[in-house]
Amino acid sequence: MGKASKDKRDIYYRKAKEEGWRARSAYKLLQLDDVYHFLDGVERVVDLCAAPGSWSQIVAIDLQPMAPIAGVTQLQGDITSAATAARVCEHFEGLGADLVVCDGAPDVTGLHDLDEYVQGQLLLAAVSIAAAILRPGAAFVAKIFRGRDAALLCAQLRCLFGRVEVGKPRSSRNSSIEAFVVCQGFAPPADLRPDALQRLLGDAGDAFAAAGDSVHLRQVIPFVACGDLSGWDADRSYDLPEAETGGYVPRPPCRNPPRRPTRPPSS
Ligand code: SAM
Repeated sequence: MGKASKDKRDIYYRKAKEEGWRARSAYKLLQLDDVYHFLDGVERVVDLCAAPGSWSQIVAIDLQPMAPIAGVTQLQGDITSAATAARVCEHFEGLGADLVVCDGAPDVTGLHDLDEYVQGQLLLAAVSIAAAILRPGAAFVAKIFRGRDAALLCAQLRCLFGRVEVGKPRSSRNSSIEAFVVCQGFAPPADLRPDALQRLLGDAGDAFAAAGDSVHLRQVIPFVACGDLSGWDADRSYDLPEAETGGYVPRPPCRNPPRRPTRPPSS
């Protein structure tokens, strides 16, 4: 696929290059923040699953290497591993984080149940890290797939946060089951220990299952469209702006991926 057709296909991809963002995902965060204002006044932010880094502010973690960002500590690792979680927590010793964001996505297989399950596990890993480092009142924003378990995941998050809503930014395609859970007002149970988190989340799951189909026993989680609804639509194709500019020049990505270490030749 040529550059021009790719630019034409995705308005947010093209806008990100024009405005110097590392990825089109930047607009998702900005459109969510337009509604929820979780970026107001934050100083210490952890960006889980951060590469290439359009969301990163203070501490960024990803499986993949990332080009450096001034003022940001970068860790390379798997957020589902206890060792990575411990490295993040060490960084915050004594000072709580104001915000944890997680845009983590597995390499999708096309098997929807499996993809949703792996995405759910990433979200739970992110919650575990967030619960260990957030200060009271802080916020957590994470990608969620609106599959079968989404309501359960939201109910579990209500054990830890005063307000839980799901936002769908305008820059996230309607054709995608992706959305973002926005949790504000971190208020863990007084005696919460990190090792008790799994049990707490499990209890919420049991209560949810016990509610069965009794809709009134389930919590209603608001689902909110975020971003200017009369603005750019991620599902539409737009013509290149040749008429106005007298010619469109495709731009390269604002940051190329860092070079991966080369493997030694096998003998
Ligand atoms: N928010 C980023 C941005 O705007 O630049 C884009 C994030 S991208 C959609 C999803 C990232 O999740 C990928 O870079 C991938 O390597 C990372 N990821 C997936 N599973 C992970 C895991 N278990 N631990 C850490 N990172 C993971």
